[in-house]
Amino acid sequence: NAGANVKVVVRVRAFLPREIKRNAECLIEMDPESQTTTLHPPSSSSSSSSSSSERKSRKILESKSFTFDHSYYSHNPSSPHYATQAHIYDTLGEEFLDHNFEGYHTCIFAYGQTGSGKSYTMMGTPSQPGLIPRTCEDLFERIHEAQREMPNISYKVKVSYFEVYNEHVRDLLVAPKVDAAATGPYYLKIRESPTEGPYVKDLTEVGVGSLDEILRLMRAGDGNRTVASTRMNDTSSRSHAVFTIMLKQVYHDFETDQTTERSSRIRLVDLAGSERAKSTEATGVRLREGSNINKSLTTLGRVIAALADPKKNNRGGTSVVPYRDSILTWLLKDSLGGNSKTAMIACVSPGDYEETLSTLRYADQAKRIRTRAVVNQDMMS
Ligand code: ADP
Ligand code: MG
Repeated sequence: NAGANVKVVVRVRAFLPREIKRNAECLIEMDPESQTTTLHPPSSSSSSSSSSSERKSRKILESKSFTFDHSYYSHNPSSPHYATQAHIYDTLGEEFLDHNFEGYHTCIFAYGQTGSGKSYTMMGTPSQPGLIPRTCEDLFERIHEAQREMPNISYKVKVSYFEVYNEHVRDLLVAPKVDAAATGPYYLKIRESPTEGPYVKDLTEVGVGSLDEILRLMRAGDGNRTVASTRMNDTSSRSHAVFTIMLKQVYHDFETDQTTERSSRIRLVDLAGSERAKSTEATGVRLREGSNINKSLTTLGRVIAALADPKKNNRGGTSVVPYRDSILTWLLKDSLGGNSKTAMIACVSPGDYEETLSTLRYADQAKRIRTRAVVNQDMMS
């Protein structure tokens, strides 16, 4: 059974105005030849007087290098290796859409601390669209082109959009209820089907026929995302957002009178911030949210660890991957360890040693995961 490794890329963003203001230093270096990312300790860490415990903790700060499938340098626009939004689509998104037209399920997820550029990479801005709108645009371009040239092929596109927030699933294509008391019933349940795997019961799936329609749904869903403010980022998102496009291709062979159906699922995931709750100094409700969000992320870490070293915790037998320990990992089961071609985009901030090191280690481990994608094709008659 020929599997393939999860594709892992890293992207470093530009400084934000607040980082420029405090004269932040870029700790990330990337080598475009070898796709190596090197994280350097802040130069201030080797200076002047400090307590012995501080000196002790500084001992672990050293330069660390990691090699990924791609290292995207989006820090300095005047660098010859600067990676634009278009470049990221052209070198990752397009390849994954090719797989979808071949009949494979795919998943691309963005991981990283709050403010590292996950939403910028996945969604982008109106003038700098990210992977999701670019995938939608390319999808409908390809469909329109194929329909002009091949009358015997037809396409159906459906879309869904949900978030996992505080270990609850919420439909993002349904406007949130203002009445707080009515919120409960709007959480959706997860079911598991023997053929399709885990899915969200009663999730809205909307058929779409044009780029405009799908972009309108994407924006509406985005507006329905639960966004709460923490000290770390004014609009820090505490939810995991899963945007799914279902593509069905029906091909009729006039010579044999055979109809073939290919179904593929395009999953694009914007994870909540990976930073530990304590670093945001969150308290009360926000802290509880943080710990539950961390439950999904902690479980994701354990799932990745188990998949990366399948036999490590278990003498010879098949080790149990704890997919069902969190909502997120249960729903992403197929994307993480099953029938899917999967990529992880590790987003890092340029000036945060601790969080960046933790993200790079996470990403490094994900490289070892293998999935087993198959073409999802049926002969109809
Ligand atoms: P996250 O979703 O990981 O919390 P965002 O995507 O919201 O982070 O990014 C935080 C801020 O940095 C936003 O203002 C965003 O526009 C900006 N940003 C992120 N990545 C880039 C980039 N590659 N180039 C320029 N600005 C970026
Ligand atoms: Mg975000």
